[in-house]
Amino acid sequence: MMNNSQLLFRRSRRRLACWYAIAMGGLLSLSGLGMYRALVRSNWIAIEREIESIAGTLHDSFEPMLPANERPTVLLQQIFPDLCVVEQPCNNSPTLIQRHTTGISDRTTYYIRLFNQQGELLAFSPNQPLSLPTDFNPTPWQTFGDKGGSRYHQFTTILHSAHNGDNQASNQRSWGYLQIGRTLATYDAELSRIQWILAFGLPLMSALIAVTAWALSGLAMRPIYQSYQQQQQFTANAAHELRSPLASLLATVEATLRLSSTQPQVVAPMLETVERQGRRLSHLIADLLLLSRLEQDASPKPDKPCCLNDVVADLTEEFSELANVSKVDLTSQVPDAEIYVAGDESQLYRLVSNVIANAIQYTPAHGSVRISLKTRDHMTLVSVEDSGIGIPLSEQSQIFERFYRVNSDRSRKTGGTGLGLAISQAIAHHHDGKISVHSNIGQGSLFTIHLPSKTF
Ligand code: ADP
Repeated sequence: MMNNSQLLFRRSRRRLACWYAIAMGGLLSLSGLGMYRALVRSNWIAIEREIESIAGTLHDSFEPMLPANERPTVLLQQIFPDLCVVEQPCNNSPTLIQRHTTGISDRTTYYIRLFNQQGELLAFSPNQPLSLPTDFNPTPWQTFGDKGGSRYHQFTTILHSAHNGDNQASNQRSWGYLQIGRTLATYDAELSRIQWILAFGLPLMSALIAVTAWALSGLAMRPIYQSYQQQQQFTANAAHELRSPLASLLATVEATLRLSSTQPQVVAPMLETVERQGRRLSHLIADLLLLSRLEQDASPKPDKPCCLNDVVADLTEEFSELANVSKVDLTSQVPDAEIYVAGDESQLYRLVSNVIANAIQYTPAHGSVRISLKTRDHMTLVSVEDSGIGIPLSEQSQIFERFYRVNSDRSRKTGGTGLGLAISQAIAHHHDGKISVHSNIGQGSLFTIHLPSKTF
């Protein structure tokens, strides 16, 4: 059974995948159609150019030879022995047009027709399509199809006679028309090939896009889901951490109320317990607030000059009492030269003190804790090394998580909430630094705080 949040995430993932697939599919279809149109257009232009160029060549070679008469059958046959003259037997040897187009295209691709001024057919190449319209139409560009579904594109140009009188005007007199045409079979075949590719390719690509979209939206949702789960875990942990001291505080208050009338002398120590528990709760809440403030990162970056020599010296002194009580040897090594970082002093105190407190807490009696301060490559390093119980390798990355404790019973006994290192890390990040750990079980741990050095 899926719970509500899983359902919500699944629905969001599906919606994300859908939008992604629609957007990508739409863009792909648009670009596919755009390319198709561009391809069709360029093919068409190439065809027209080719027809025009052949027509131009023929026109230029025909005109000077044209007979004065429009029905000069004998002359026509002399000039164009390859053409079939209307009402005369036709030989099927390669035509003039075929010779002109050899090397450009298939020999059967092009045909030629000659008309007189009145639009009567005079001659034609033997390979002209049978279904050509016999009526003359002087429109320059025409496209038509035959009954078999083949299409043709043809170009008509006017021919002028060069042998028709002596003056300039009669030189320009129209003699008839030259028609060059070609079959569009290869063009249509190419077109339908591209259409088939689009018809099968686009749905296939859409299916692939849908699968990719589903996988990618899964990847995109993963960090959100993880952070959501962490958030839920944090809420549960926080509630748990608050519940225990609150329950014991309420129990103490109840007992105090019950005993206050009969045994007034026990009230004072009980109130002390209440106060202790109240303080613990208030610390916990203050820590949680600090953490959430630091993690929101909304506050401006702290930039006051803070002398880390002072921080380390003060904290060593402050913790010497606790170290004494725990029988731990606490020493510090601070260079003479002052080392500064830009930051918030109270936060930096908190950052280092959490690490020192842990080192003392998790080091048995007669162990040692060494604090040192140094700079390396524009970074300030504060190291806290102890000879304590150590941290298992598998848990070294988790100890910085909120509420994480390696050994919860032991840690709880020492008063730890599991927030100390999370706060230290958040403060280090807030100061553009980091905190690292090296530890061996039973041999001790080395925590190093890295902060960018600053000269003021
Ligand atoms: P806590 O308040 O429990 O000390 P922290 O966040 O400060 O929480 O530390 C998390 C856990 O990391 C601790 O519970 C402890 O198990 C482990 N830890 C931290 N510092 C040390 C150390 N110096 N030596 C051994 N274990 C440590």
